[in-house]
Amino acid sequence: MPQHVVIAGGGFGGYYTARTLERILPAEVPVTLVSDVNYMLYTPLLPGAAAGTLEPRHVVVPLRERLKHTELRLGWVTGGDPSRRALRVELAAGESVDFDYDQLVVALGSVSRAAPIPGLGDHAIGFKTISEAISLRNRLVRHLEAAEATDDVDLRRQYLNFVFVGGGYAGLEGAAELYDFATDVLIHYPRCRQTGMRWVLVDAAPRIMPEIQPELAGFTLRLLRRRGLEVMLETQVTRVTDAAVELSTGETIPCRTVCWTAGVKASPVAERLGLPLDRGRIVCDETMRVSGYENVWALGDIAAIPDPARPGEACPPTAQHAIRQGKLMAHNVAAALGHRPEIQPFRFKTLGAFADLGRQNAVANLMGARVRGFPAWAIARFYHLAWIPGFKSKVRLIADWTMDFWFPRDVAELGQLGHPPRLAEHVVPSQLRQHESGGAAVADSSAA
Ligand SMILES: Cc1cc2nc3c(=O)[nH]c(=O)nc-3n(C[C@H](O)[C@H](O)[C@H](O)COP(=O)(O)OP(=O)(O)OC[C@H]3O[C@@H](n4cnc5c(N)ncnc54)[C@H](O)[C@@H]3O)c2cc1C
Repeated sequence: MPQHVVIAGGGFGGYYTARTLERILPAEVPVTLVSDVNYMLYTPLLPGAAAGTLEPRHVVVPLRERLKHTELRLGWVTGGDPSRRALRVELAAGESVDFDYDQLVVALGSVSRAAPIPGLGDHAIGFKTISEAISLRNRLVRHLEAAEATDDVDLRRQYLNFVFVGGGYAGLEGAAELYDFATDVLIHYPRCRQTGMRWVLVDAAPRIMPEIQPELAGFTLRLLRRRGLEVMLETQVTRVTDAAVELSTGETIPCRTVCWTAGVKASPVAERLGLPLDRGRIVCDETMRVSGYENVWALGDIAAIPDPARPGEACPPTAQHAIRQGKLMAHNVAAALGHRPEIQPFRFKTLGAFADLGRQNAVANLMGARVRGFPAWAIARFYHLAWIPGFKSKVRLIADWTMDFWFPRDVAELGQLGHPPRLAEHVVPSQLRQHESGGAAVADSSAA
C-alpha cells in the first residue's frame, strides 16, 4: 500500500514541501495538503498590498494552480493524536474528520504575539494576514475621509494620527509604505493637510531592526525621521482605547489607528497536537523530525529547529528558512518512505535580511555586506521577483510596480468589498434606522 503523507498548512513551508514532493515522489504516493485558505501568502509583499502598490490577488499564490498532484483539502486543523497517527480537521464544509497519515508534516506558521496591554486586543490591528493589510489601507483612507469631513479639529487629529508598534522589518516596511501612501494622497484632502498628520513608530528596544547591522539600523532611523515619521525607542504602549494610545513616557496620543507588529509566536494549534514544545514551538532535531516521533515532522515558524548559524538556538521565523526547510523536508520525508537514499540535516545559514523603505530606498545585510539606498532596493525587488512562485505572479508584480512608477496612487476605499449588505438593508439602511432612533449614523466599514 502506498503510504499517505499529510501536510498541515499551505504557507511557505507547506507549499515548498508539497511542490518538491510532487517532483520526487512516485505519483501513486498520495499527498494531502490541509490549509484554511487555498493560497500561499507571499508575506514580504504584504506592505505593498497594504499601500495599494500591489493588487491583493498579486501577492498570493493559488495552491490549486501550482500543485498538480497534491490533494488540497480546505479546513482548519484543530488537533491531533500522534499515537493514533491522526490529525483532526474541521473541514470547510463544516464536518470534523480525522485524517490518517503515515508521515505528517506540520507547517501551521505563527500568529501575532499580542502583549497583555489593556485595550490592545480590542482596538489594535495586526499586520500578518492579507485581510489585515487591506483593512489597514481601507481604514487609512476612511480616516482621511472622516477627518476631512468633520469640523471638529480635535476629532480630526484623532483620525490623522497613526501609531505602529514594533521596529522589526515587517513593522518598519509596513509603516514606511503606508506613510508614503498617506503623504502621496494627502494632496486630495485640503483640511487634513492644514491640520497635518502624525505618524509614530514605537519600540520597547533601544534600536530598530535587530536583524541588520547597527550602522544600517542607524541609517534607517535617520531616513525615516527625515521623511517625517517619528520613531520612539525604549518606549512601550501601556494602554489603547478607541481614540487614544498611552505610552510609558506619560504621553497620550489621540489616535484611532494602532497597528501591532511587535513579533510573532507559534500557532496556538501546536499545543493541541500532542507534540513536545519549547516556548510554544514544536521541538525538532536537525533533520526537522519532531523529538520522539519517527513519522512526524515540523518546519517554519511553528518549529524549533536547531539553527546551523547559531549553535544552541532555533532557526529564526523567516520565509527564507521556511522555503529551504520545505525543500529539504520533501527529501527527508521521501527518504523515510524509501524513495531517497538518506535523511539529511538542515544546514542552511541565513543569507541576511533587508527592509524595503519605499521611495526606491532599502537597507540590506547580505551575508555580512552592508548595502543601502537604491542598490539595496533593486536587490530586494529582484529577489522577490525571483522567489515568488509562478510566471504569472512575476508578470503581475512587474506590471503593478510599473503602474506605480508612472501613475499616482488610488484613494478609492473599497472596505465593503466582500461584505455586501443584507437584502433587508436595501429596504431600510441601518444608518437611517439609527438616525430615526437617535443613534450614531456612520458605521466604520473599514473595520470589516
Ligand atoms: C508583513 C511580513 C513581512 C515578512 N517579510 C519577510 C521577509 O521579507 N523575508 C522573510 O524571510 N520572512 C518574512 N516574513 C516572515 C515569513 O512570512 C514567515 O517566516 C513565513 O511565512 C513562515 O512560513 P510558514 O510556512 O511557517 O508559515 P506561513 O507562511 O504563515 O504558513 C502557515 C499556513 O498555515 C495556515 N494555517 C494556519 N493555521 C492553520 C490551521 N489551524 N489549519 C489549517 N491551516 C492553517 C495559514 O493560513 C498559512 O497558509 C514576513 C512576515 C510578515 C508578517
